[in-house]
Amino acid sequence: MFSKNKNNTNSYSVRPDRAITSTQGAKIHDPFATERIGQHGPLLLQNANLIESLAHFNRERIPERNPHAHGSGAFGVFKVTDDISDICGSEMFDTVGKETKLLIRFSTVGGEKGSADTARDPRGFAIKFYTKEGNLDWVYNNTPVFFIRDPSKFPHFIHTQKRNPQTNLKDANMFWDFLTTEENQVAIHQVMILFSDRGTPKSYRNMNGYSGHTYVWTNKKGEWHYVQVHIKTDQGIETLNNEEASKLAGQSPDYCQQDLFNSIDNKKYPSWTVYVQTMTEKEAADLPFSVFDLTKVWPQKQFPLRRIGKITLNENPTNYFAQVEQAAFSPSNTVPYQQPSADPVLQARLFAYPDAHRYRLGPNFNQIPVNCPYASQFFNPAIRDGPMNVNGNFGKEPNYLSTNKKYVFGDKYELNKPEIWSGPAIPYHWKTSPGDIDFQQATNLYQKVLSKQPGQQKALAHNVAVHVAAACPKIQDRVFAMFSRVDKKLGNDIKEETLNLAPRSRTSKL
Ligand code: NDP
Repeated sequence: MFSKNKNNTNSYSVRPDRAITSTQGAKIHDPFATERIGQHGPLLLQNANLIESLAHFNRERIPERNPHAHGSGAFGVFKVTDDISDICGSEMFDTVGKETKLLIRFSTVGGEKGSADTARDPRGFAIKFYTKEGNLDWVYNNTPVFFIRDPSKFPHFIHTQKRNPQTNLKDANMFWDFLTTEENQVAIHQVMILFSDRGTPKSYRNMNGYSGHTYVWTNKKGEWHYVQVHIKTDQGIETLNNEEASKLAGQSPDYCQQDLFNSIDNKKYPSWTVYVQTMTEKEAADLPFSVFDLTKVWPQKQFPLRRIGKITLNENPTNYFAQVEQAAFSPSNTVPYQQPSADPVLQARLFAYPDAHRYRLGPNFNQIPVNCPYASQFFNPAIRDGPMNVNGNFGKEPNYLSTNKKYVFGDKYELNKPEIWSGPAIPYHWKTSPGDIDFQQATNLYQKVLSKQPGQQKALAHNVAVHVAAACPKIQDRVFAMFSRVDKKLGNDIKEETLNLAPRSRTSKL
């Protein structure tokens, strides 16, 4: 019989007498002895302890995540600071002061597990809330926008950030070839943030998290809004410059893991204040861009941030593999009154994330304690069997909804005037927008935000130049032209520094 996991996700058990046993629980007299013929003769197949330990060792690694392979995690709590019952009816928000336990996993995106923490890369900012209505995952990043808005481009894009199939090297030509292709220049806003010093955060504690996507939140009256969530660090934003980040990548590749672990261990609990931006359907219709466009932010003057609560990380995992490597986040893990919007990248992630976990951890990944909805409880007797089913498999419960049993169903909640979709079923490829609208927010960032932060415009040009210097001249020229569309000076600064670093006499090929 499935029993509710009342355990804290950070609990584990060790045999009270601490006797060393085989995996079937029989005490072992000498774990280092191997059965053989005589002292130095060949080993015997009956040597179960040796065979099990070698065979298990061979199977220790599970597939690493494809993107977001390298990460760090900690447990904590979300506390409601402000009443938002007018915009969201979720139980976790219903009382000021209410606390909900959570897990956060921070990560880099492109590097393999074991790559350096300080690499220039967006950072994943994935949160699992163990709510009484079920687990809710906010699978966010530390940037408010993303590189693409057509989900079909995701594997292409990620491949260009990884390794060349022949050389097995990171490849500046692949990287910039993709990003400077005319229709992929919608990425420019994200590329600007990536190559600003925010692309190399000083620590996970010193960065923000953003939903990036638009979501739909509903109150108990059925009134709904589009929302974007901002999670702002209370430690203040701190970044590394390009040279500091490169140096640390060599000297202390696990710098951010160490920083997070030590700060919690030393009871310096990092915290973030959570805000939400809201937008009505009418306001969305009047925007100069689509509310479902992941490459755009909502101007804060028009859509001010409203405070919701505070997140504090106060507990380190007791076991990295069990609680961080096996943690499985998905934007499809949601709770009543919080729904995805029609953002096509979000819609694709609703499928792709659980699918990645089925591959990496197996179809019963939600039975793993860190993923188990222990503050609620899983019961759906049609979801049965499968590899690593360890929760009792609902015992003798019928494996369908039987007329002989009583079941309880969740409350129905309906949206007043929900979105109505109609149109022909067509293949739609969301290429560039008319005019330079895809560049406007990147230009704002350069001219209105970075201009007020001494040295940051220059740092951006420098960070791009150092990277693009490794690309071939043809691609470099496309990079200069793309950044000139943001701001002529930026394009020129990048060009000047790149050509100093990589004089055109050198040969390079794509
Ligand atoms: P605002 O002046 O109202 O907002 C500017 C925002 O820029 C700040 O709130 C801050 O967000 C963010 N910011 C500050 N420094 C940097 C940096 N070095 N790199 C990236 N972001 C930074 O103007 P708008 O709302 O019109 O936004 C202007 C530009 O700011 C946008 O084009 C976008 O590039 C960027 N931005 C906007 C956000 C938004 O939600 N509107 C969120 C983040 C960036 P924060 O406090 O979250 O760091």
